[in-house]
Amino acid sequence: LSGVAFPGEKEVQEWEKEQEEARRRDHRRIGTDQELFFFNDVSPGSCFFLPKGAHIYNTLTDFIKSEYRRRGFSEVVTPTLYSTALWERSGHWEHYSQNMFTVTTEGSQRYALKPMNCPAHCVMFEQRVRSWRELPLRWADFGALHRNELSGALGGLTRVRRFCQDDAHIFCTPEQLEQEIVSCLEFTRSVYRVFGFSFHCLLSTRPTPCLGEPEQWDDAEQQLERGLQQFGERWELNPGDGAFYGPKIDVQIRDALGRQHQCATIQLDFQLPIRFQLQYVGVHRCTTAAVILCFVSRPLWLSPAQISVIPVGGSSEAYSRQVVQRFQEAGFMVDLNDNAGATLNKKIRWAQLAQYNYIFVVGDKERDGSSVSVRSRGGKQLGRRPMEEVLKELMKLRDSRSNDEDF
Ligand SMILES: [Zn+2]
Repeated sequence: LSGVAFPGEKEVQEWEKEQEEARRRDHRRIGTDQELFFFNDVSPGSCFFLPKGAHIYNTLTDFIKSEYRRRGFSEVVTPTLYSTALWERSGHWEHYSQNMFTVTTEGSQRYALKPMNCPAHCVMFEQRVRSWRELPLRWADFGALHRNELSGALGGLTRVRRFCQDDAHIFCTPEQLEQEIVSCLEFTRSVYRVFGFSFHCLLSTRPTPCLGEPEQWDDAEQQLERGLQQFGERWELNPGDGAFYGPKIDVQIRDALGRQHQCATIQLDFQLPIRFQLQYVGVHRCTTAAVILCFVSRPLWLSPAQISVIPVGGSSEAYSRQVVQRFQEAGFMVDLNDNAGATLNKKIRWAQLAQYNYIFVVGDKERDGSSVSVRSRGGKQLGRRPMEEVLKELMKLRDSRSNDEDF
């Protein structure tokens, strides 16, 4: 039970205004209102993504996958369920088992759902003898992770029990480490730039207690620091907040309400390589939680409602269906609004409320000229333009992940 007390009426009103603003921007409300996603008590903390939410989700994943390919990462696929023998070996059983879901199978064998991908990647790495010529090896994994968060801590997409990370592990030599750290930081910056996030970095150093020798920690912390200097963005020291197995760089971003969110993290790990007897150094990198920040105002490339086609007059209906098909074939999310009961103005208003990025009005003139009359989401008239030209321009905006509306 909790209560809130205020010194005066003015403070009450300010608090109510803040609450209202938080409600308006609450991603859970946006998720339900726009039919993107929801939660249900049949699986607490695990999200159901509806078709439009799944479209955003997949578009984000495709974006990260294309970045991985450009940056020399390869994607791997690993199991979800592992014998507790693996978790004992990785140290998770000792340090993390209260957060893991376990399953008992025939012969009372115990398994646990993975809360992280790292041990699976170590199993893959040691599956055969590796040569230094193969290094650095960079493996990315979009596998589903489960963590047994307390039900009281669950809150929309910010705290869940089932999630996928944009998660990768890099196996490299100590000499390669600094360059890998700088590359990870540059990767993170280029992704955040696309979303317009501002960010800053924290260098989190050894906690007490921690594993390993002081000299190892000195060395690892210095490598991260040199990486940060070379990267050149603003950073601060965050003493004592590293993981028990190594220091890390945490990247914090700011959301629409000015709140800070811990987002990407780049961690040096010299314990897993020892536990798995790998001769090389491991780097974990992941950038979770960016997804929810993208639900409010979507640029064309992320939008699950890209184009609304509105026919005017009965004779343009066949043509409007051709327009829909042409854009669908090019991979756009396009809907036809041929509801005969509504006026043109109502349909335009509705499409704007539903946040379609573009509205195409199609009548006899457009049909005769193989064109469409285009309006942007902001209400700007972009004129009657040849359909093929519009298609080319929108593909350009989409494929470059532009935030522009005009073309
Ligand atoms: Zn990891």
